[in-house]
Amino acid sequence: MTAVVVLGSANLDLVYDVERIPAPGETVLSLGFGAFPGGKGNNQAVAAARAGADTRFITALGRDGSGDRLAREARDAGITLLDRRVDAPTGTAAIFVDRRGENSIVVDSGANAALTDLTGPEREAIGAADVLVLQLETPIGTVAEAVAVAKAAGTRVVLNAAPSGEVPHHVLDGVDVLVVNEHEAADLAGPGADPMAALTGRGCAVIITLGAEGALVGLPGETPVSVPSHKVDAVDTTGAGDTFVGALAAALDGTGLEALVAATGFATAAAAIAVQRKGAVPSIPTLEEVRAFRDAR
Ligand code: AMP
Repeated sequence: MTAVVVLGSANLDLVYDVERIPAPGETVLSLGFGAFPGGKGNNQAVAAARAGADTRFITALGRDGSGDRLAREARDAGITLLDRRVDAPTGTAAIFVDRRGENSIVVDSGANAALTDLTGPEREAIGAADVLVLQLETPIGTVAEAVAVAKAAGTRVVLNAAPSGEVPHHVLDGVDVLVVNEHEAADLAGPGADPMAALTGRGCAVIITLGAEGALVGLPGETPVSVPSHKVDAVDTTGAGDTFVGALAAALDGTGLEALVAATGFATAAAAIAVQRKGAVPSIPTLEEVRAFRDAR
């Protein structure tokens, strides 16, 4: 069993179905409402746990009902939670989805912004893990600190550089596996560059996810390998990227291109199941579901 530590955000997603997204100054009535666990860190931790990893999740929650709910649901998903309760509201995302499926989102980082200065137990958990998973919804100084702790202890670092943002050189230098979608890859690589060549040139393994096209896997100095996706009827791609990252971390075993391609194949199958289901967390499959899906192909 892979020991995975995810450090990242937890939000309560407030999803409003609306006829159309309100213009400035306008009020519209919702056609339906639901509140669901979200945040990239939380989703990726659930994906790793469901994929069979021994999963710890370092996150910051408010001392409020939303924090209680997120903590309870994370534990129900089999995650060992290393949560801090802080004097800020739990992170929220207000998501308006119109009839055509277009959305507008406002995120309040809330407690997530207070995930700074790693504690002793948090550092120990990172040091004891096989794999540390990070994203960019956490203060970058904390991401850098976690990378340094992992490096000192020999823990492999997976960075999902999402949402798009600057990644300082000293952080990228400590990353073993960088996972990005096409947009994030182009942003990080800079204008005019071939993203895979530019990013593997930084010295880490790189996985570029390509939606329905699957993923491209590259290692410094090696020809990239394409891992195709499975042909499925996608109904909701929310959380597909997070499912991919969590499942990948759980399946990471070995360091060569072959091992990376094998883990990507597992992550691709997990994500193909997720896109056939609605929502983020509810769509994330278990290890048994991924195995059954692959056996049936
Ligand atoms: P993305 O973040 O859109 O690049 O998607 C992440 C991963 O989810 C991809 O690498 C695929 O493995 C999977 N995926 C996304 N969209 C689809 C789709 N329409 N059909 C099958 N797999 C998908």
